[in-house]
Amino acid sequence: MAHPSLIACHECDLLQHPAPVPPRGAAKCARCNALLYRVPGERGIENAFAVLIAALILFVVANIYPILSMELQGQRVDATILGGVRELREGGMPAIAVIVFLTGFLFPLVNLLGMLAVLLPFVRRRRPRYLATLLRGVMMVRPWSMIEVFMLGVFVSMVKLAHLAHVVPGLAMVAFVLLIVLLASAATVIDPHYLWSRWETLE
Ligand SMILES: [Zn+2]
Repeated sequence: MAHPSLIACHECDLLQHPAPVPPRGAAKCARCNALLYRVPGERGIENAFAVLIAALILFVVANIYPILSMELQGQRVDATILGGVRELREGGMPAIAVIVFLTGFLFPLVNLLGMLAVLLPFVRRRRPRYLATLLRGVMMVRPWSMIEVFMLGVFVSMVKLAHLAHVVPGLAMVAFVLLIVLLASAATVIDPHYLWSRWETLE
């Protein structure tokens, strides 16, 4: 695989010519041995595409089913993410409703669909004109799609609520945790460095 340009180490800033890396291999910094990038296996893109389809299904499950259920004084309340957004808005907290809507729903969805749209041309081996713009767009949205941070917030709330009510994690919680694992496994492929290197394989 050809890597014509220099790359900088994230840890020690050493500029170096990337060495050719075999599939499933990783390039490390010549000075500090930090990981520079990984190269997925031969069918890495196809596998990541399948993983992202599964992630999209999990995302739908995570938004249909309750993220947690609470029992308080004999009453049971099921909370979904979008239901929570509505409650926050009606409860006079529109700013928090917007943040929860963006970080828990819109950005992860845009991120997932964007990654699928970026990989589709590689799966079909066709290079559409919009591909470079799309890849830049996905890399911009990505830092805002922080499901891990969102889930941490949900866990903290659960612990705090546990003193007041009987709190049970819902199916959406399981779907979200699996979603985080799937996104992490697809992340190696959604790497601009790697995708640019695959550019010339497209027609
Ligand atoms: Zn280094």
